[in-house]
Amino acid sequence: MSEERFDAIVVGAGPSGNAAAYTMAKAGLKVLQLERGEYPGSKNVQGAILYADALEKVIPDFREDAPLERHVIEQRLWMLDDTSYVGMHYRSEDFNEEKPNRYTIIRAQFDKWFNRRVREAGATVLCETTVTDLVRDIRGKVIGVRTDRGGAIIHADVVVLAEGVNGLVGNRAGLRPELKPEAVALAVKEMHFLPQEVIEQRFNLKGDEGVVIEVMGTVTNGMTGTAFIYTNKESLSVGIGCMVSDFAQNQTTPYALLEAFKNHPSVKPLLEGSEVKEYAAHLIPRAAIATSRRSTATAG
Ligand SMILES: Cc1cc2nc3c(=O)[nH]c(=O)nc-3n(C[C@H](O)[C@H](O)[C@H](O)COP(=O)(O)OP(=O)(O)OC[C@H]3O[C@@H](n4cnc5c(N)ncnc54)[C@H](O)[C@@H]3O)c2cc1C
Repeated sequence: MSEERFDAIVVGAGPSGNAAAYTMAKAGLKVLQLERGEYPGSKNVQGAILYADALEKVIPDFREDAPLERHVIEQRLWMLDDTSYVGMHYRSEDFNEEKPNRYTIIRAQFDKWFNRRVREAGATVLCETTVTDLVRDIRGKVIGVRTDRGGAIIHADVVVLAEGVNGLVGNRAGLRPELKPEAVALAVKEMHFLPQEVIEQRFNLKGDEGVVIEVMGTVTNGMTGTAFIYTNKESLSVGIGCMVSDFAQNQTTPYALLEAFKNHPSVKPLLEGSEVKEYAAHLIPRAAIATSRRSTATAG
C-alpha cells in the first residue's frame, strides 16, 4: 500500500467524505478513502434528518435504494416547563409529494449504503485505519497521509479532510482552529425500539410518514440547547444537546438531562414500552445547530 499513489485520499467516511470520494471516483479519479471506524457509520451519531436536496445533487436516484426510514410530514415545536408544554404543529399533505425533501434516517445504515455507492463508483475504501498526520514535501505541499498502520505513508496529489467536527488531523496541521467549548455542543442520543404499528398509532401516521419534534424550555436546565424526538420505522431517536461551555458551568450531565427529558409528562407516554438499544454521545459545531434550526424553521 505504501508504494501505491492515488489521485486523491479522502479522510473519513461520513456524509462529507462519502460525497467527496463518490464525486471524484465517478469522475474517473483514483481515490482512496480511509475510515478509522470498523465500518462507515460505526462512529457516527445523528438524530437524524436527511435534507434530501443536497444528496440529490450528488446521487439523483438515491431514493431507489437508500435506507430511508420515514419521510417527514409533520414538524412539532414544543416549549416545555416542568409539567406541561405549549406547542406548534405543522402538518401538510404537501409533504406526501413524489420526491419528499426530508427523511428520517439511521446513520449506521445510511453511511454504509452511501459508502457502498462510493465503492461501486470505483474508490478503494480502507476501514479501521486512522490517519495520524498529513505528509508534506520540502516546500510544505501536502503529498499524502501517515496512518496508524505501522506509520505507513500513502501518497496522493490531493488530500480531502472530512474527519468531522473534532478534526484532529486538521488541528495538528494548523488548518483549523481547536474547538472552543463555547463553539460546540455536546449531544446524547438513544434509540427506543417500538413496534411499527405502535409508532404509527401514537404519532397518527400511515405508511412511511414521519414526525419530528424539536423541544426547548426547562428541559435544557437554563442552558443553550435543544432536545428532539424523531420517528423512524420501528424506533424513535431521542436526544438532547447543549453547549459544552454551559455544561462546564452547570452541574448537570448530558445523561441526567436526557433522563429528565424522557420522564417529562409530555414525553413519557410517547416512549412507553420501548426498548432502548443504543446510547451515544457526540459533538456538534454551533453553526450546525443553527443550520439545523434554520432548516427546521423553513420547513415548518
Ligand atoms: C445528536 C446529533 C444529531 C444530529 N442531527 C442532525 C440532523 O438531524 N440532520 C443533519 O443534517 N445533521 C445532524 N447532525 C449533524 C451531523 O451529524 C453532522 O453535520 C455530520 O455528521 C457531518 O458529517 P461529516 O462527514 O462532516 O462528519 P462525520 O459524520 O463526523 O464523519 C467523519 C468521519 O471521519 C472519520 N474520521 C475522523 N477522523 C479520522 C481519522 N483521523 N482517520 C480516519 N477516519 C477519521 C470518523 O470516524 C467519521 O466516520 C447531528 C449531530 C448529532 C451529534
